[in-house]
Amino acid sequence: MKIDFREAKSIITKSNIPSIDFVINPYTGCQHGCIYCYAEFMIRFTGHKGDKWGQFLDIKTFDFNKIKPKKYDGKKILLSSVTDPYLPLEKKYQNTRKILEKLVGTSAEISILTKSKLVVRDIDLFKKFERIRVGISINTLNDEFARVIERAASKPTERLDAVKKVSEAGIETYVFISPFFPEITDFKAIIEEAVDYTDKFSFENLNFRPHNVPRIMKTVKEHYPNLILKYKEIQKDRAYWDILEDEIIKYCEMNKLNYEIHFHHGGFSKS
Ligand code: SF4
Repeated sequence: MKIDFREAKSIITKSNIPSIDFVINPYTGCQHGCIYCYAEFMIRFTGHKGDKWGQFLDIKTFDFNKIKPKKYDGKKILLSSVTDPYLPLEKKYQNTRKILEKLVGTSAEISILTKSKLVVRDIDLFKKFERIRVGISINTLNDEFARVIERAASKPTERLDAVKKVSEAGIETYVFISPFFPEITDFKAIIEEAVDYTDKFSFENLNFRPHNVPRIMKTVKEHYPNLILKYKEIQKDRAYWDILEDEIIKYCEMNKLNYEIHFHHGGFSKS
């Protein structure tokens, strides 16, 4: 892993994501190295041409005292969108923690999203916010498969344990079932595991993008060879997602769950 320090012009930036006003990415790059990652385009914009996603990390340097919590009152902030706020190196560099410490006092709605058990370290800080929700993303309960697709993230069991601890501390939680791997992601099993300590479930489809298709297909071929033809079909015929969306809605309604579905990327959801 190539580690560097780079001065950031700003650390809380305006967002292009619908319904999110600001995003915070404390690092450039991501140690988790997920095979499907959609943030890989960052290589082009951050002077990392020639580097491989998942093999470099810039620790952003910034005068955190410049963060004015009141500036964000009433806004929605996501932490993070193109990295994970609780990467293994967050333990050492603590950029996420330093930023949150400076944001205490804001009435912004802060949404934390991670694949790391390290998130429990900051429970003391989360308690200081008026409006904060902490989520984990997860798409399998199979620790071995997770290790293949999300190399350096915490095991699914550890993520679930983390969200449980956060919930037990009285903090709002959510579970983001993402990205949904057709015929591999057992969403009902994940919900059953997490339902007692999760306030909301969100769902996102697997996005086939030119940069990730070879990796996804190779992984499916190696680990679920019987599914490779199905994946090729789904890549071409997106009707699969509409059927799945109906199934999710039916299940969530039947079980009176609080949920939202984000099957919109690529513009192919019926909704
Ligand atoms: S944790 Fe998120 S940003 Fe990091 S590699 Fe995985 S999908 Fe990409």
